[in-house]
Amino acid sequence: VVDKVDVVVVGAGASGLMCAATAAYRGKRVLIIDHANKAGKKILMSGGGRCNFTNMDAAPKHFLSDNPHFCISALRRFSSQDFVDLVDRHGLDYVEKTPGQLFCEHSAKDLLDILMTEVEWSGAELKLNTKIHSIDFQDKQTIVKTSQGDVTCESLVIATGGLSIPTMGATGFGYDIAKQVGHDILPTRASLVPITVQPDRKAQLAELSGIACDIAATANGTCFQEPMLFTHRGVSGPSILQITNFWQPGEALNINLVPTLSSDDLTTVRQNTPKKSFEGFLSNLLPKRLVELVKTEFPWLNDRSAQTSNDQIDALYQYLSNFDIAPNGTEGYRTAEVTLGGVNTSEVSSKTFESQKQKGLYFIGEVLDVTGWLGGYNFQWAWASGYCAGQYV
Ligand code: FAD
Repeated sequence: VVDKVDVVVVGAGASGLMCAATAAYRGKRVLIIDHANKAGKKILMSGGGRCNFTNMDAAPKHFLSDNPHFCISALRRFSSQDFVDLVDRHGLDYVEKTPGQLFCEHSAKDLLDILMTEVEWSGAELKLNTKIHSIDFQDKQTIVKTSQGDVTCESLVIATGGLSIPTMGATGFGYDIAKQVGHDILPTRASLVPITVQPDRKAQLAELSGIACDIAATANGTCFQEPMLFTHRGVSGPSILQITNFWQPGEALNINLVPTLSSDDLTTVRQNTPKKSFEGFLSNLLPKRLVELVKTEFPWLNDRSAQTSNDQIDALYQYLSNFDIAPNGTEGYRTAEVTLGGVNTSEVSSKTFESQKQKGLYFIGEVLDVTGWLGGYNFQWAWASGYCAGQYV
């Protein structure tokens, strides 16, 4: 039996659900297909289970792409306020944690429930546990061959996301379909991901596991001043996740443990409090265990600061402001929040999201080479691209 619909959306994640509801509200017959046993798994696990679903400051500058102008139109046509209006209509309770970052107050499930309600109200149909065997693009229609039978459609939307968290159903399916019709895929890499450290540094830093401090992480001219967390494998926390959008293994990475200090500030400490130690001073700035580590490098740290030379102060400042975490790599797709790279957006319409290589084929969400910073931007891209494509499919 061959089913016939107007639109097939592959992927019941953030962008796919948004696109499907938008198109179905327009009167299109829409079928969403997902191989997973549940829709929106990443929504449920996001933001520590509370989903940072948008950022009120979302602007093109918060997105990375080989084609930086691509995201402008959709972000303007469907803004974070538009998404907030939607969740407000459903009475979602949410909180603003860091300025601009909106999280569900109770659980990410509340947000997924809203999307599922929208899908239901719109009349879009959802088929889970369905594998796609092949896609056959014909002149006037596309045939999608699945483990539950064949479906023909006029528009096929690829909303299969990136490669992060394979255990949650991530696959390279979207890239394969893109390649099938001649699209260029920009190199993909795990991002917004913890950094691992070199084996000889691991044991020492693992002693700090669990402690967090405000640092500045800088790579390739971009700097994030936010907390860093020491883990058993290396370092994580907002500043580290953010910098992985800009840093790759092998490149220089600067970690400044004292971003609010200059080396002159340390000389002033000596001048103003010569009878007190730098250990005492640093203990007001850094967690105790970290100060202990610094002391193993600078045994004079608990002497009176009057006894320290300018060279010693310089060496201490160098150590703190260019703290060597000995980065080795990242934890990879296993724990990454997003995938950098993907379908080259210069071959996709920024207005309709239709492929310029294959009529009736659309790409939305993370499968495209558009990646946001940490902070709700990636979901906003999913909502915006899904909504805009949903208007044209
Ligand atoms: P997804 O939401 O990943 O959906 C893709 C769907 O396609 C999935 O349902 C999958 O099962 C399906 N699929 C894949 N391959 C196939 C196939 N071959 N056949 C059929 N179906 C298939 N972003 C934020 O903005 N804020 C956050 O707080 C946040 N937290 C995150 C936390 C974690 C742990 C992770 C992993 C990500 C987080 N993100 C966050 C990123 C955000 O989840 C993604 O950017 C967003 O979900 C991308 O939406 P999408 O629709 O493109 O893909």
